[in-house]
Amino acid sequence: MRRSVAGSRTRYRVLNTLYHVHMMFLHKCSYFVLFIGVVLTGCGQTQLRASEPDAVQTTEPFVMVLGVAQDAGYPQAACRRDCCAAAWADPGLKRLVSSMAIVDPQSGKRWLIDATPDFREQLHALDAVTHQSGHATSRSISKSDLTGVFLTHAHIGHYTGLTQLGREVIGDPKTPVFAMPRMADFLTNNGPWNLLVEAGHIEIMPIADGQTIRLNDDLTITPMLVPHRDEFSETVGYRIEGPDRSVLFIPDIDKWSAWDTLGGSIEAEIARVDVAYLDGTFFASGEIPGRDMSEIPHPFIEESLDRFAALRVNDRAKIRFIHFNHTNPVVRDDPEAMQKIQAMGMRTARQFEMFALTTDQGTRDAR
Ligand SMILES: [Zn+2]
Ligand SMILES: [Zn+2]
Ligand SMILES: [Zn+2]
Repeated sequence: MRRSVAGSRTRYRVLNTLYHVHMMFLHKCSYFVLFIGVVLTGCGQTQLRASEPDAVQTTEPFVMVLGVAQDAGYPQAACRRDCCAAAWADPGLKRLVSSMAIVDPQSGKRWLIDATPDFREQLHALDAVTHQSGHATSRSISKSDLTGVFLTHAHIGHYTGLTQLGREVIGDPKTPVFAMPRMADFLTNNGPWNLLVEAGHIEIMPIADGQTIRLNDDLTITPMLVPHRDEFSETVGYRIEGPDRSVLFIPDIDKWSAWDTLGGSIEAEIARVDVAYLDGTFFASGEIPGRDMSEIPHPFIEESLDRFAALRVNDRAKIRFIHFNHTNPVVRDDPEAMQKIQAMGMRTARQFEMFALTTDQGTRDAR
């Protein structure tokens, strides 16, 4: 759908095919889709191929899913099995590591949640969407134009992209990196991360569990501690709240019951947002042959489907699984696995999908 806002100060373009990802994945029933020039086919979640580049404009804040894979990405290094074979053969099936951007077109500000090993491609994809016409030629080619980076935790898929902010690559001064206390200590006291701090390329911004950070007049973000393998840092998820709508992003967590034990409640968090991007690392137990999956106790999607069956339909419809391991059949859109999720009124996150943080007529109609 085309969205145009009179009096916009900043033009934001969606240039689908500038980026080296040949396939865009959209959902016919998405609340909000900025892309135009694509062909929607069928119902439910459908792989779609982008057509010619086109541009749309919006002044409304939105979030954008920059990747949907587990820390290792998809296909995974050294995987020579069937799960990754097609993706090795067809780069269009590649999936970037889970990450989210928050974009405020009015101010030109944009934030990342997590700096992944795919930071390079993800920043480029974000540039393609938020390219500010008339400004590009006057800008330094080496500026990240990131207003800040919020980190979830110190596992490789979530912070190692910070290296790209260093002098070997971008070398901007003082990109704000928002981190919980242990995460901040880890970055400050261990190489190579401390070089980023000491050389002033990143500036650690302390955050605390449950304490809301105001991004601007009508955008906030709130970290929440979740249970996870916390070798080097705590782990947080984030709630992003815009003028009308809010989003939950929890890419990594141990079993939902482990959070219950700590006094958390995934159901309560789902209830207070409009969309919930939740850990869907593995589809089912036994997915990794020869490995004790109790060592990696993510909520299996099958377990989440069972647990969330008790939710009301409109709460279930908020759920979009993300952070897929290469062994998870949904990372390659396996029809049987996708059908199980859709039958429960839930869905999977699509790489580069966007969700508006405001409502308008078009998006209301879609809900
Ligand atoms: Zn992860
Ligand atoms: Zn594989
Ligand atoms: Zn993790």
